[in-house]
Order: sequence, then structure tokens, then C-alpha cells
Amino acid sequence: MKVTLLGTGSPIPDASRAGPSTLVQAGNQNLLFDCGRGVLMRLAAAGLFPGFLHRVILTHLHSDHTTDFNDLVTTRWAMSPVENPLPVVGPPGTQAYVDRVLAMLTDDIGYRIAHHDDLNWQPGVNVTEAHDGEVFDDDGVRMVAAPSDHRPVAPTSAFRIEHGGAAVVIAGDTVPCEGLDRLCADADVYVQTVIRPEMVRAIPSIRIQDIHDYHSTIEQAAQTAAHNRVRTLVLTHPVPAPIPGTEPEWIAEAAAHFDGEIVLAADLTVVET
Ligand SMILES: [Zn+2]
Ligand SMILES: [Zn+2]
Repeated sequence: MKVTLLGTGSPIPDASRAGPSTLVQAGNQNLLFDCGRGVLMRLAAAGLFPGFLHRVILTHLHSDHTTDFNDLVTTRWAMSPVENPLPVVGPPGTQAYVDRVLAMLTDDIGYRIAHHDDLNWQPGVNVTEAHDGEVFDDDGVRMVAAPSDHRPVAPTSAFRIEHGGAAVVIAGDTVPCEGLDRLCADADVYVQTVIRPEMVRAIPSIRIQDIHDYHSTIEQAAQTAAHNRVRTLVLTHPVPAPIPGTEPEWIAEAAAHFDGEIVLAADLTVVET
């Protein structure tokens, strides 16, 4: 399997980090996890247009993870020569969210159908709400969901993708929890969004201090990787984004608790199983 960290940013705008989004290519399937800011630009850089995605999977409905979902729906629909409904997987609440996004797009859908004689269908989105258990098992690619813990944001889901004897876990925003441990057991690659608490505390904003209790720290991510015998820990969505030159400090903080491979992802970092 090939894991491409398309966007490694957070809600904080960053010139070199697009919003959270990760591409997992397993067998013949292109699976996109989350749709943060600029996802289609990074997807193009990885060589794919939205029409080539087999599924889009949302870990949760926070804006930084979903803000360009509407761009993906519109562009896939408007570029496709034939009807090409988009399969979407997400936690309970995803169907209602998708319905609201489609309602938001009503004007544009109307303009394009009126303008193009060969475009006479609405964008199709087929939603599967997944929170715990097997989501699909197609052509040798299996995906399992488990509840993550990003409270008070709930429900949220993490996912494990299995193919050819290898396993990749996309955790999303979560603190350590039983569901995450279940998915991470003996995984080859574990992708975790992280914060660095002492750097967050240095930010002079009261509101940003609220993020401490619902994100994994570097230390917690490393501990989850260690006790689940993970091979490679990928740190993404770092808050705050590392000041250039300080990346080794992030790696060292993880290495104090985990002796496997550690990757601090930048946009378009690739990790293979
Ligand atoms: Zn986030
Ligand atoms: Zn979140």
C-alpha cells in the first residue's frame, strides 16, 4: 500500500501545508481520507483527479477536515463524461452533512445543467455511515472502522485498511482510546494528527488552549504506536506547525516512547508498506 500525506495542515492557515487529507492506494483502489483546504490541488500533485477516487472517507465533520468536500463533489461531477456517483464513508451524521452540502451547491448545479447539453444529472453521493466494524471487503482490500475519541466532537471514527497482509491506520483527530488500540494492533503504518503541548501553550490565545484535551500529543501517539507494536508512526496535522529546523525535536519527542520508524509528514510525503 502507498500512503500519501496530501495535506498536513490544521485549521491555522499555512502557506506550505494544505488542510488535512491522506490518500491510501491499496490494490486497485484510491481511498481519500478527509478533504481539507486545497485537497484537489494536492491530489493533482499526486497524479489523480477526483474522478479516479473509489471512496472518500471522513474521520469526522470538523471544518478543517471537510472544508473542500464540496469542491470534490462539484469537480468530480462537472468533469465526468458519465454519471460517476461518489461513495462516501463517515461517522453517523455524514448523510445529513452531505445533504446540506448538496443543498448549498444548488445554484451551481442548476447553472451547469442548464448550460451543458450533455450534463443532465445531479451529482450523486452514496453515503455509508460507519462507526464500528467492517465497512467493506472488495478485491482484496478490507476496511474496518472503530470509534475514536475527539469529544466533545462526537461521533468520530478511525479506520484500518488491510491489503496483501499489510495494515494502515488513519486515526484522524483523537486521544488514545480502546477503538484506536484495536485498529492499531500490529499495524504497519499508523497516521496520527498531533499537537505539541508546550508549543501550543506558548500561543497567546485563550481559545486555542481548548485543543489540549481532544488531540493526541506527540507522546501519546508514540505510546499508542509502541504498545500496539506499530512499525511506522506518521505524525501529521502538527499544531503548531513546526518552525523550520525544529523537526528533529518533534521526532525526538516521539522517539523517547517508540523505537520504530517515525515520520513527521510534510505535504506529499509518501510512506509505503
Ligand atoms: Zn483537525
Ligand atoms: Zn477535529
